[in-house]
Amino acid sequence: MHHFEYRDHELYCENIPVRTIAEKVGTPFFLYSHATLKRHFLIFDKAFEGLKRLVCFSAKANSNLAILKLFVNLGGGLDIVSGGELYRGLKAGFLPKTIVYSGVGKRVDEIDYALNTGILMFNVESLEELKLIDKRAGLLKKKAPVAVRVNPDVDPKTHPYISTGLKKNKFGIDTASALKGYQMANELENVEIIGIDCHIGSQITDAKPFQEALASLKSLLNEIKKMGIDIRYLDMGGGLGITYDDESPPHPREYAKAIVESLKGTDLHLILEPGRVIVGNAGILVTRVLFRKSGPTKEFVIADAGMNDLMRPTLYNAFHAIKAVSAGNDRMITADIVGPICETSDFLAIDRNIPDVKQGDLLAVMSAGAYGFVMSSNYCSRPKVAEVMVNDDQFYIIKKRQEYEDLVAGESIPTFLNS
Ligand SMILES: *Cc1c(COP(=O)(O)O)cnc(C)c1O
Repeated sequence: MHHFEYRDHELYCENIPVRTIAEKVGTPFFLYSHATLKRHFLIFDKAFEGLKRLVCFSAKANSNLAILKLFVNLGGGLDIVSGGELYRGLKAGFLPKTIVYSGVGKRVDEIDYALNTGILMFNVESLEELKLIDKRAGLLKKKAPVAVRVNPDVDPKTHPYISTGLKKNKFGIDTASALKGYQMANELENVEIIGIDCHIGSQITDAKPFQEALASLKSLLNEIKKMGIDIRYLDMGGGLGITYDDESPPHPREYAKAIVESLKGTDLHLILEPGRVIVGNAGILVTRVLFRKSGPTKEFVIADAGMNDLMRPTLYNAFHAIKAVSAGNDRMITADIVGPICETSDFLAIDRNIPDVKQGDLLAVMSAGAYGFVMSSNYCSRPKVAEVMVNDDQFYIIKKRQEYEDLVAGESIPTFLNS
């Protein structure tokens, strides 16, 4: 459920017509509904009621400060994968002890930053990383709290680019080596083992893979206990899918039920790292039709947003529903909705049935709140678009549209080129 609905054929975000915002801020822009963000977070968090838990929103899904601050206010924590995300998280107001740090390639400066900050836990993804964290912690006279990210080899049956828990994926440590990791960590002086972690993929639309991963983690936990190691935190990662088209992912309550049942009788503190399920359907991308064009075999709708603004269709062949912001016209066409970028892969949709929109009409690219703006680039020297948050009948620009000056910020011409 989200707050993007038609009233008299006009698309509204909460209590403002999307058109009104487009007229004031220009296009393209990402538009987020505060009520939807809040609702999604609370439903997810409440689903685990009764369990010791920390819902660490996955910053990489959408790291705008305003969105992060909302989750701070709702009692959430943060899942980060870089020093930059740590910086954003702290700026938004997350307490260090609510931040968990995953990622296969943590740099020394990033590890030091997290150690000095005093985050809740490092999710360690290789034995070499474990050794490096121990070394840096020693130098900084800190004790590094760690969990081993286990790769449980379950198939989440999602797009191959977003499965992360298969043997062949680069993420985590396979279950056999994970025991070695715990053994090793136990002997290291400057790390404290506090958790076990997994994250098996994204846009998962079935509860089973999560149950399989949890079963695998639990049997590993038994082995770890035998080593005399006391694990307090179990981090289930993120990955719960959403409806983009006709998928029917489990409701957070069903997802939670599957996890809670398996954890009964343990005293583990649960950590969750949802991203997409919280923000995905809480945001849209609004774009204007620049031109219509008929090719010999195709009809084209050329929009002012392209793959540099929303990369998911290009990168994963992802489906985003596309709607007319003013929906009075019942005549439908089949068209490719493409952007202005000089790449054949620059499309928002291929062979899509959409209303017969005209030059100047507004389109809403739905479900664009997750992995939208954060993946955008300046390719073709296109300024990054604005981000806007609606609260009831007010809207707020939470990220200014870039200007041409921003495009060259930090660039300089060496003097020898000027002589
Ligand atoms: C990307 C990521 C998440 C969030 O995934 P979603 O599919 O958006 O829920 C959580 N944890 C880790 C480690 C990630 O890399």
